[in-house]
Amino acid sequence: MIDKVFLDITKFCNAECKYCFTNAVHYNNEITNEELNIDEIVIFLNELVKNEIYKVSIGGGEPFLKNLGEIINRTNEKMKFSITTNGSMLSDEFIKLFIKNKNIKITISIDSLDNDKSNMIRKNIDINKVIENIKKLCKYEEIRERLSIRTTISTINYRDIYDIIKFCEDNKIKNLKVNSTNEFGRAKDNKELILPFKEFMNLLEELVNYCDQNIKSVNVELPVEKYLKVINRKCLCGNTSLYVNWHGDVYPCAFTEGELKLGNIREKKIDIILKEIKNFTHDNEFCYKCPINRYKDYEKMTKEVIK
Ligand code: SF4
Ligand code: SF4
Repeated sequence: MIDKVFLDITKFCNAECKYCFTNAVHYNNEITNEELNIDEIVIFLNELVKNEIYKVSIGGGEPFLKNLGEIINRTNEKMKFSITTNGSMLSDEFIKLFIKNKNIKITISIDSLDNDKSNMIRKNIDINKVIENIKKLCKYEEIRERLSIRTTISTINYRDIYDIIKFCEDNKIKNLKVNSTNEFGRAKDNKELILPFKEFMNLLEELVNYCDQNIKSVNVELPVEKYLKVINRKCLCGNTSLYVNWHGDVYPCAFTEGELKLGNIREKKIDIILKEIKNFTHDNEFCYKCPINRYKDYEKMTKEVIK
């Protein structure tokens, strides 16, 4: 049963990360596909609540380029929001909402604490500004619990991860999400960034053990674990979660690059889409070839702290 929706609310971003898997475009550029507007997003989210789906993960592009405060305030209060952001655009007004509304969780990406190195991967992001914003958030204990850091490991930053763990410890941030760089979106043109998967998994194990033994206050999480069956490590996307892009196309996950489309929320009611997705199976060419299958060879090694 679907209990979570991933919703990218914009294709625009103020950054130009070399591995951006959604291929987000700079906000000065024009895109031809018309994005969902705020009314459409709010109506969709409230339809989800009517269908007893209470979890939405908001991404982009950079979601703070749209008025997220308005979206959250106009959505049924039962909805729980997880927002993934590059952390460069947090306003004081949104911080006030974040403090007040316990249904908001935020994940901020940091790949290196060093601005030059960060910019080798995450172009146009001033990491010092992001750090300043995180420190601002960490002043509030009620927020810290709902704040995570996400690091995408590449050949450029894999040695920086211990500094990021220390940063989490110093700022009392419990959850550090660690992802691999995968061959999607812009990473296809920047393959030199991709660390061999075995090396990534070895590093992840090293980090989990390091935190377990030395820095117990920080938990290293592999986000994809939540979407793998515990027993045979098969993909759960399309069975327990859905992905909707910035112009309303629905897919089982964000990784099909335009294939396996299940409809569009402007053309089909969500209850119909939810009925139809019950017939979705992973028995297709894209799912067979999907990089998520690589985790089958590895036991679950990380746990989730924030529920
Ligand atoms: S901040 Fe996120 S959405 Fe923007 S370019 Fe980087 S990876 Fe893509
Ligand atoms: S393409 Fe990959 S992530 Fe998406 S549903 Fe298929 S196996 Fe899962």
